[in-house]
Amino acid sequence: MEPMIRSAPPESVSGLTPPPATRPLAVQHTLHHAISCVGTGLHTGACITLTLQPAPAGHGIVFKRSDLNAALLPARFDYVVDTRLSTVLGDVNNPTNRIATVEHLMAALNGCGIDNVLVLVNGPEIPVFDGSAADFVFLMDCAGRVAQDAVRHRIDVLRTVRVEQNGAFVELSPAPVQNLHLALSIDFPAEAIGKQTFSTELTPATFRSELARNRTFTLRHEIEALHKAGLARGGSLDNAIVVDGDQILNPSGLRCPDEFIRHKVMDAVGDLYLAGAPLRARFTGHRSGHCLNNKVLRALFADPSAWRYVPAHASFSRVAA
Ligand SMILES: [Zn+2]
Repeated sequence: MEPMIRSAPPESVSGLTPPPATRPLAVQHTLHHAISCVGTGLHTGACITLTLQPAPAGHGIVFKRSDLNAALLPARFDYVVDTRLSTVLGDVNNPTNRIATVEHLMAALNGCGIDNVLVLVNGPEIPVFDGSAADFVFLMDCAGRVAQDAVRHRIDVLRTVRVEQNGAFVELSPAPVQNLHLALSIDFPAEAIGKQTFSTELTPATFRSELARNRTFTLRHEIEALHKAGLARGGSLDNAIVVDGDQILNPSGLRCPDEFIRHKVMDAVGDLYLAGAPLRARFTGHRSGHCLNNKVLRALFADPSAWRYVPAHASFSRVAA
């Protein structure tokens, strides 16, 4: 099944967006000051301290285990070492040096337009908080966002790249808009989820209003299997939606009727920021997840004719914050 795509109005007829050549260049951003928090790791159940530190222009998003004397882990697709339960960054030469569940923090960094941050974490995973990106957005709002004296770059997708696996697919193709346009669909046997589609253009405003608050979800029988395997020790109804057939087990229910597919789109916003810069592309997918999100980036960068690295222009989209 192809996902439904809600088309955006062409910018040339919107009357609100000057042609790219006349727009000023966008600049890079970091945080105004460092900020720390403590939360539970979904899989270890451990109490983990996360610190976001400002970083100079050109630094990028870089992770570091503060409890190890180990190499830095740049937030890049080629540092992803596992995608089975979450997106995991790691050092192939040092199996201890790994950080799991980076995707919701990466989504918030992408959605908030933060280019340069050093992420310190004193354990093997990023705290899960409520299973959404809302707390990461709150942290960045508390730290403040500051412009830097350097031009922001983006990656334009020039040719369609597609990866498939067991009836699922994702595809990156040239964008009809200035930013990242996402259109995903899911189809779960569990009646409480079923078939859902969602599409949006990523801007700071749409990230906050449409994506950031949607929580991760799991099926009850999967949780029981994870617990038997010693995983998801920190998992609870406070940090995930749990589905059993047509039932939502969380007493407070869903935050919106299509919270499941909105969370999958939010995951993709995080996984795709592992390109190393914001993408100008159309991203479509069906029944996709962290594995295909990483594979499509590897396929994109394996073909030098499929992309280009260009200065980004300031966004004048009607929905930009
Ligand atoms: Zn997620």
